[in-house]
Amino acid sequence: MRSESANMRPADGARLCVEFVDFNHEGDGVARTEGGFVLFVEGAMPGDQAEVEVTRVHSRHGEARLVRLLRPAPGRIAPPCPVAGRCGGCPLMHAAYPEQLRWKEERIRQALARIGGLDEVPVASIIGMEQPWAYRNKAQFPVTMEGGRPVVGFYRRRSHDVVPADPCLIQHPLAVEVARAVRELMEELELGAEAGGEPSGFLRHLVVRVSFSREEAMAILVTRERAFPAKEAFIAGLRRRVPAVASVVQNVKRETGRGVMGPVSVVLWGKSHLAERIGHREFLISPDSFFQVNPEQTRRLYDVVAELAGVRPGDSVWDIYCGAGTIGLYVAREGVALRGVELSPQAVQDARLNAARNGVGDACFEAGRAEEALARWVAQGERADVAILDPPRSGCDPRTLAAVAAAGPRRIVYVSCAPATLARDLARLRAHGYVTRKVQPVDMFPHTAHVEAVALLSPE
Ligand code: SAH
Repeated sequence: MRSESANMRPADGARLCVEFVDFNHEGDGVARTEGGFVLFVEGAMPGDQAEVEVTRVHSRHGEARLVRLLRPAPGRIAPPCPVAGRCGGCPLMHAAYPEQLRWKEERIRQALARIGGLDEVPVASIIGMEQPWAYRNKAQFPVTMEGGRPVVGFYRRRSHDVVPADPCLIQHPLAVEVARAVRELMEELELGAEAGGEPSGFLRHLVVRVSFSREEAMAILVTRERAFPAKEAFIAGLRRRVPAVASVVQNVKRETGRGVMGPVSVVLWGKSHLAERIGHREFLISPDSFFQVNPEQTRRLYDVVAELAGVRPGDSVWDIYCGAGTIGLYVAREGVALRGVELSPQAVQDARLNAARNGVGDACFEAGRAEEALARWVAQGERADVAILDPPRSGCDPRTLAAVAAAGPRRIVYVSCAPATLARDLARLRAHGYVTRKVQPVDMFPHTAHVEAVALLSPE
């Protein structure tokens, strides 16, 4: 079989007519050639028939470029954003929103069936946005110089070219306003940026966080050095141009490599935290702590979690991978004992502040690894009535799942941003005696290929 499929590999530069059947996890269209070889094509979508040119061949799949649409998919639209297809931010924008939702729901079903062997689990209709625009509360703009002029925008996919992000249809308008103001101030004050990826300039990234409920923005300037030429003029200019800026923060990142921000943030002016309202709670957001990026859908997501968790007075509730404590505090009510664990000490500090701010007295948050903390809690004889899991894309460590099952909760609610690890972990929990009763997808990231879902489990 192997040699046969190798023979069916198209050559670099080959032109083929193909039909698209899926999106991959990055939002590229997926087609199968007549010979059965899989091709990924940016800008294509399921239902398209197109002529493509093969640009790269790997052992198990290839990449190709869209040459010409022969028959567009029925759900294809002209993307409303002027930089769609150039900026790497919204790979699904050429699919009408209902098509995106249909695909995301289906992706959950397929992952559950293929990876978890969980064909029988009911998947509810995905909860989408009514207006899937201007939904993001956090923007990370790379800053560069082009022809001696600053550009604040987004990376083109798989490149360090920066595409201007003005307008950006998925960001809160305040983020775009701050980006525009920063670009103007860089020109006015002759502040350089990282030119062509060269480690020379002053500003590397601009991160903007926005509170939707308060209509306030935090501007975080990620710089190569601590020294900030014309600092006072910059801050005054930014506040004058965008009065909704409530906080200006400097973050120094000297080395290149993973992550946009370095370890230390210093408030140059204004507030140390933004406050954002989600339903009946208000949470603090610090410059570098994790917070869900779509506040409107976060309320819907947390409402789903609250409903599925069914917390009762007197319950012991575990919020595992708790970040700033938001989910646990959202579902907690009178008489509940809340316990959280989270890797980031900064987020744990925020969780404690958030508990106090929301008057949740019986809450205890621990900084550490879930897989270690939970095993300890269980060994100490602690039990959970409700356990909530919200791991990163990589999912849960098997030790975490074993400890959760050993704590004997009446319900487990698993919030996932990665269908494949969700399916794997639900299957593992099945082996520990917990059956998945329902999965509810929620669209947190319209126009992107990210898929979020909540699963409810209870004992057999
Ligand atoms: N529940 C939160 C955050 C979820 S994001 C919310 O709704 O906002 C996932 C979180 O898991 C991140 O804050 C990350 O720092 C944390 N994390 C990653 N690996 C971890 C581990 N092994 N143990 C505990 N927390 C971890």
